[in-house]
Amino acid sequence: MYTCAVRPEIAALSAYVPGMSIAEIQEKYGLSKVVKMASNENPLGVSPLVREALGLHAGTAFRYPQGGNPRLVAALARTHGVSPDQVVVGNGSDEIIDMLIRMLLVPGKHSVVCFEPCFSIYPIQAQVCGVEVRRHPLNADFSFDLDALFALVDDDTRLVFVTTPDNPSGYCQPLADVRRLAQRLGERFPHCLLVVDEAYMDFAGDSPEDEARFSLLASGDIPDNVAIMRTFSKSYGLAGLRLGYGILPAELAQYYWRARLPFSVNILAEEAGIAVLQDSTFRAATLECVRAGRRRLTEGLRALGCTVWPSAANFIMMQLPEGCGTAAACFEALLQRGIIIRPLKSYSLPEHLRVSVGSDEENTAFLEAMKQWMQEVRG
Ligand SMILES: *Cc1c(COP(=O)(O)O)cnc(C)c1O
Repeated sequence: MYTCAVRPEIAALSAYVPGMSIAEIQEKYGLSKVVKMASNENPLGVSPLVREALGLHAGTAFRYPQGGNPRLVAALARTHGVSPDQVVVGNGSDEIIDMLIRMLLVPGKHSVVCFEPCFSIYPIQAQVCGVEVRRHPLNADFSFDLDALFALVDDDTRLVFVTTPDNPSGYCQPLADVRRLAQRLGERFPHCLLVVDEAYMDFAGDSPEDEARFSLLASGDIPDNVAIMRTFSKSYGLAGLRLGYGILPAELAQYYWRARLPFSVNILAEEAGIAVLQDSTFRAATLECVRAGRRRLTEGLRALGCTVWPSAANFIMMQLPEGCGTAAACFEALLQRGIIIRPLKSYSLPEHLRVSVGSDEENTAFLEAMKQWMQEVRG
């Protein structure tokens, strides 16, 4: 007889809560058409160049990928004007985040510092590793108190996580503040790495040129104690293939390649990544679609009386007006109408909702469903 005896950290874990899937909702409510605006995926779907590459390379699926994914790394280094020595790729940026925690922190000794709430992968993977997580609450308006975050750091802190633009609020921290945090950490804590998660950075600002105003990576001047996380899951439309990347201090990047599982980026994901980096048309269309949709959703929800937080990302965080029921009831009502959005209970924000920017048609369906539901509750 086997009696399962996991480590206490694992026994105490609460699982990552993903957005609900289309298939789940179709089955549960007997719907033929379901719109998913829950996981910040690309509203335009898959790039045509990616479809072509996947077809072209399907016949290589029986092979192992090349160790270290050198062609993809080279393509990313060219795209961002950084040295290939600094570029790492992973099975989603989730893998890179997990690896940083496992590589840098000794359980029972070192700590991770992040905000509360934040992207749940940071605290969950830290808990899996048995390392201490220190958290400071976000300001009431969801902006960052970086001085307070800095105050949590001590000589045994090895990682500080900052997400900008932030999930789930869409808030984007001024670049000068992030730079100042990196500088203060560098002066006082030489063993502490600042991880700046820029998963949504390409959506910041009003036009693609704005990215350089907000992004450490795009600024071309990355402090030497900073790791930047980026992903193919959002603007590049490859969430299901699992592909993320990071720009790390070169020495740390070397250790990453040694420590990670050798083939965590599969051969088709690598080809898809290389292909989508060349698809400037798809990219421009995505960024344009998201910016336009973000404006439309913001205006539409405000017109309905909702509170909408300014967003620099491809989603919007909102709260219902007084007298319009709970966020949970609204979420359920939208599900019944075939629209999946994201309740933020798992972020400890039970009255907030997050909706990903969809296609024009999806945004229309969502706003229409919101309007109907609010009319219904108000009687
Ligand atoms: C979506 C997201 C990521 C990307 O995760 P992948 O593993 O690359 O899909 C990273 N950080 C944040 C904050 C995110 O919301």
